[in-house]
Amino acid sequence: MLEVDNIECRYGKVDVLRKVSLSVGKGEFVALIGANGAGKSTTLKAISGLLPPVGGRITFEGEDITRASARRILEMGIAHCPEGRRVFPYMTVQENLEMGCYRRRDWKHMSDDMDAVFDRFPVLGERRAQAAGTLSGGEQQLLAIGRALMSRPKLVLFDEPSLGLAPNNVQKTFEYIMEINRQGTTVLMVEQNAYAALEMCDRSYLLESGHVSLEGRGDDMIHNPHVQQAYLGME
Ligand code: ATP
Repeated sequence: MLEVDNIECRYGKVDVLRKVSLSVGKGEFVALIGANGAGKSTTLKAISGLLPPVGGRITFEGEDITRASARRILEMGIAHCPEGRRVFPYMTVQENLEMGCYRRRDWKHMSDDMDAVFDRFPVLGERRAQAAGTLSGGEQQLLAIGRALMSRPKLVLFDEPSLGLAPNNVQKTFEYIMEINRQGTTVLMVEQNAYAALEMCDRSYLLESGHVSLEGRGDDMIHNPHVQQAYLGME
């Protein structure tokens, strides 16, 4: 479904991605793990069109999207749930969710999808008329996740979905992501919590200093000595 082929990304003169290649099959759950600064967020930004690569190629469902606009990429079915609290602070919770599907015309489904978000995260339903900027950090994170799903994407890119969440919300969020994957949405997830990510995913890639150093099934990666020592805190 998604093929990332030897992409290179740069911030100014600094090379951040050096020939990164990965693929995500339809229906798969793929995790991208690695240390701070390895280039995980940059990889997601390259895919969603926020930072077009300077080299290499990205294709989605057979179409070259390497230099497509972020808007076109979203319309093709790739949603990006960015790291941190990237909600529209002066809009209400409900308006933020509506923004997630501004291209859609099927209002009936939209309200069903909104109810599904509120069922999963009741705190958002209770605060639907409240400005998003007044939510707690964790609540804003939940809202960003809900908003990404409102476009009914084929592929969702999650960047650190557990960041800043209390443990019960981390668990709920991971369950939610696994559920949407079981229901057919393809997932590419960047996650600091490498153990949880490897347990949840079908396959994973380890990114180190801007390139893929290891790839494999989640359970094989959990048993890899290098991964255990450097990323899972095991001796
Ligand atoms: P983290 O887990 O800390 O979020 P990451 O693997 O997602 O890390 P990236 O955010 O992709 O890493 O950053 C990769 C490198 O690019 C880092 O060295 C970072 O300092 C640098 N970088 C990221 N964004 C910019 C920017 N806008 N301008 C300059 N350098 C940047």
